[in-house]
Amino acid sequence: MSAPMLNERDIEFMLYELFNSESLNQRERYQDHDRHTFNEVINTAKAIAVKHFLPIRQKLDTEQPTFDGKNVHTLPEQKPAIDAVIESGLASATADYKYHGMQLPPIVANMAGAYLTISGGNSMGYTMLTNANANLLQAHGTPELIEKWVIPMRAGRFAGTMAMTEPGAGSGLGDLVTRATKTDDGHYLVSGSKIYISGGDHNLSENIVHLVLARVKGAPKGIKGISLFVVPKYLVNDDGSLGQDNEVALSGLFHKMGGRAQTSTALSFGEKNGSVGYLVGEENQGLKYMFHMMNEARIMVGTGAAAIGLAGYHYSLYYAKDRPQGRLPSCKDPLSPMVNIIEHADVRRMLLAQKAYTEGALALVLYGSQLSDDEQTALTKEERAHAHLLLDFLTPIIKTWPSEYGPKANDLAIQVLGGHGYINEHPVEMFYRDNRLNPIHEGTTGIQSLDLLARKVPMNNMKGYLATLAEIKSTIKTGQADPSLLQYADELTSALTTLTNTTNVLLSAMGQASAKQDESIDLVLANSVKYLELFGHVIIAWLWLKQGLVASAGLAQDCHESDEVFYQGKLQALKYFYRYELPHIDVWAKILCDLDSTTYDMKETWF
Ligand SMILES: Cc1cc2nc3c(=O)[nH]c(=O)nc-3n(C[C@H](O)[C@H](O)[C@H](O)COP(=O)(O)OP(=O)(O)OC[C@H]3O[C@@H](n4cnc5c(N)ncnc54)[C@H](O)[C@@H]3O)c2cc1C
Repeated sequence: MSAPMLNERDIEFMLYELFNSESLNQRERYQDHDRHTFNEVINTAKAIAVKHFLPIRQKLDTEQPTFDGKNVHTLPEQKPAIDAVIESGLASATADYKYHGMQLPPIVANMAGAYLTISGGNSMGYTMLTNANANLLQAHGTPELIEKWVIPMRAGRFAGTMAMTEPGAGSGLGDLVTRATKTDDGHYLVSGSKIYISGGDHNLSENIVHLVLARVKGAPKGIKGISLFVVPKYLVNDDGSLGQDNEVALSGLFHKMGGRAQTSTALSFGEKNGSVGYLVGEENQGLKYMFHMMNEARIMVGTGAAAIGLAGYHYSLYYAKDRPQGRLPSCKDPLSPMVNIIEHADVRRMLLAQKAYTEGALALVLYGSQLSDDEQTALTKEERAHAHLLLDFLTPIIKTWPSEYGPKANDLAIQVLGGHGYINEHPVEMFYRDNRLNPIHEGTTGIQSLDLLARKVPMNNMKGYLATLAEIKSTIKTGQADPSLLQYADELTSALTTLTNTTNVLLSAMGQASAKQDESIDLVLANSVKYLELFGHVIIAWLWLKQGLVASAGLAQDCHESDEVFYQGKLQALKYFYRYELPHIDVWAKILCDLDSTTYDMKETWF
């Protein structure tokens, strides 16, 4: 028997008990689906994972793509595996039927995608970027752009990328310098260098559709002067056949600590005459359009981080049940049989922490997936607007908390295996390396925390912030009515007071700093990462209380023994999070409320 990738009972719990996904078929878009089709899709993803990806997972990690100066070479077994995903419909599972999609709810598609993420290294990075690229063009492109680029991407013939980062512009995209010059026949000529472009070149598709951020001559400085262009690797003729090479040159491949199944490229656009680019929407509005893709990608990053965290948890749990080592402190007989390491309380601590982090993170990303659906397909206008408000506010947390705590879980998985976790005979060290990218790309943790505190909290008269608090309070009220959960509901109430007080102190300091218009705002925002962590912990504690409510209701019924132990496990993980994790917020709140200047005051020369 091999280690399970995910807990199927937990998938059922998340989809059907916590988020009530079965009811989604009341929406017109999903009327063809039901629980049976949702399960079929998840089983298909699992079957592809087992058949195509698991056998090559280690090879994808150790045999990185190569570049011979002309062509990129990927592992030969990777293309059939990705093709199996495309043929199954999973690559554009959420897209409309008319665009080769399955019109699946994102919550189900993302849950299914978790199997592929865990098994395929980041092979799914190719299809996810292609899907998000096509979604952006469908939302903001002209019918001509959709016909020419989206249709072949949906069919799996073309792949897509997002090309934003430059050597001098990573977190600060306002400084990017790639240029675009308008020609007389309506298109643009693009030139410049981009780095770290995932899937920027490979041999897995006929063509690659880059979505490139560039600055049109004379555009305003900073982010207000950025435009978005479709720049294909090969031009496409009117009959749909591939045309000439479009001067998108691969300058080189990066070799990474993890995520090695997907190429990471340095690209040079238009070195001779300029690469032909087609404007998306209006000039200087490019970053706004790109956010369509980035926001989707941020949920995907959080989902990937949660999935890889879960993979490490299940692997280390499986291992701990089968590895005999040592005896309990109470045992004085050296001749007695060794116990399996799961019997050591400290090993159970590490497993419980992983469970609390990763199942908490999974609940968060599935909640985000459902909000992204609700903002489009909920039955009333009010519900759609409410979902939009919550998602817009929570995106930095949905991206960041799983990205920070997923690798922490993977770190603990290594520790559970001891020395065996440090060598590549077991996948836990690879999970850690793969997951370590997630706090970096799609906006680093530092950048996300500034976005949360300086922009999202005050935005719109704090509407998103207040709506989030209202959701939490409503769960607390339900929790107070359940005697077995009352204690947690009260602790969450107190955590909410800590969050509210901290937010008020910071908002008042931000207000004073902006009135002064001096550098004092730098100090107020200096500990923003701790604010995001505090807020994230409150959100995860809330989602654990929600899980606890479902588990408690399940136990109150006459449930099957296997359900009983499952629900008990949920309640124990809830308890762990409230005992071992939630109290950290008090330390972070003190640092924040004191406007602690320890890091701010540290001088470069003192290091
Ligand atoms: C494997 C991989 C895949 C990627 N894929 C893509 C892709 O497909 N497309 C794409 O366009 N990009 C991609 N990226 C780029 C990625 O988004 C950037 O690496 C990331 O945004 C950070 O930029 P940077 O590397 O230049 O780091 P920097 O911006 O130099 O940041 C370095 C450190 O400084 C901090 N920092 C920077 N500015 C601030 C600030 N204003 N306030 C506080 N702290 C700050 C950061 O938080 C970070 O800790 C990828 C990167 C990697 C490694």
